[in-house]
Amino acid sequence: MMETRMEEKDYVKEYLRRTPGSRKLYERAAKIMPGGMSHRARFVAPYPPCIQKADGARIWDVDGNEYIDLWMGHHALILGHRSNVSREALKEVAGLGTHWGTLHEYEVRFGELIQEIVPCAEKMIFGVSGTEATMYAVRLARGFTKRRIILKVAGGWHGGNSDLAWAIHTPFDKPESAGIIPELGNYVKPIIFNDIEATRRVIQEVKDDLATIIVEPVVGGGGMIPADKEYLQMLRDETGTLGALLIFDEVITGFRLALGGAQEFYGIKPDMATFGKVCGGGAPLGLIAGRADVLSLCDGTIKREKGEGVMVGGGTFSCTPLTMVLGYRTVEYLKDHQDAIYPKINQMGQKLREGVAEIFKKNGVAGKTLGLGSLSGVYFPYDPKTVVKNTNQLEELTDMHKWEHEFRTRMFNHGIFAMHGIGSVSFAHTDKDLQTILAAVERVAKEMKAKAY
Ligand code: PMP
Repeated sequence: MMETRMEEKDYVKEYLRRTPGSRKLYERAAKIMPGGMSHRARFVAPYPPCIQKADGARIWDVDGNEYIDLWMGHHALILGHRSNVSREALKEVAGLGTHWGTLHEYEVRFGELIQEIVPCAEKMIFGVSGTEATMYAVRLARGFTKRRIILKVAGGWHGGNSDLAWAIHTPFDKPESAGIIPELGNYVKPIIFNDIEATRRVIQEVKDDLATIIVEPVVGGGGMIPADKEYLQMLRDETGTLGALLIFDEVITGFRLALGGAQEFYGIKPDMATFGKVCGGGAPLGLIAGRADVLSLCDGTIKREKGEGVMVGGGTFSCTPLTMVLGYRTVEYLKDHQDAIYPKINQMGQKLREGVAEIFKKNGVAGKTLGLGSLSGVYFPYDPKTVVKNTNQLEELTDMHKWEHEFRTRMFNHGIFAMHGIGSVSFAHTDKDLQTILAAVERVAKEMKAKAY
């Protein structure tokens, strides 16, 4: 049977009908940026909704369509769009200036607060992105252990830096990108998430040269798949025994699963952790936190022979008042209101997953939900009994790519901005919003069931 062309699919036709303004803007974007985008994950065929404004849990596109937002700025906005906290912080910044380029009190206060909150944060370094944070974290690990090999989860995304842009998409053993020296792949090996035995085997193969294992406690871009606690514990034990370092990439989970991130939630302390998103309060932030002895390798006040210390650039825009004030005020608010925030968003995430799963089941749609706390995803297994534990299975056992696009586009058409399956709830989402989201899922499920599925 011939595949229907995308523009002829009923849900794409409806999307095109609703979004002529987005189409026009995208056509202009395509003339200036490759593929019309500066971030490829934001592309949704035939073009993404172009957003004009945002408030609380809602965003509006240039055609005036209103959406309940589940993407929330790549999961960064835990307090919602234009929160009082961020508006006040921006006023504070307006009176200060945006960039000083030297040490200041906000940076110190923010750091002290993070030290208090994040279990592994004996010391830290602020930067501007998660990509930068993970790049430096693995460099520190190699420098500290004087070994070369990084193990990373197949399907894990740690940003586009050359050391970690490996084994993200299938086939996991092929390089992800031209322009990255293929031989670097000899020093970055994939492990299968939540598969204790298979991972142990890889660890044993490389153990003499193992510098670090980097892992997202909830594999985000690879499907919103939570780690089994025993898996993280095994990684903790094995790295400890071998003198390698364990890095939690908490760019998504940090300050979200719990105030102290996944390391608090799971009760497992890594040697280092990387953060971004939530703790920037909507401003660009990357953070490496970890053991004082490891981070001291980039202490520029210690005299060393050239090449013995680890170069961590920091960057022109590290610690601007803009980022430090927004980040500090956000994390301060999260700390002061943690008892209200975390139970609420975690329960709402769970209700969302349970609600979606029930609707799929009731309507005979072969979809399932994944996630933890406020982070949720959906997937579409060939066999309804399949339970997915890692991205390898997501790729092998599901029809993710085909159905995720349809599901997401139909959700757009019903006023829900869902990305990567579903997305994350924030403190700005209400129970009423949840009902509206579930009502949209019900309509989408009925539409999808009506098709040959
Ligand atoms: N690590 C994880 C787990 C991420 O999800 C991301 C971004 N999605 C990154 C690192 C890279 O962060 P950034 O986009 O800020 O460079």
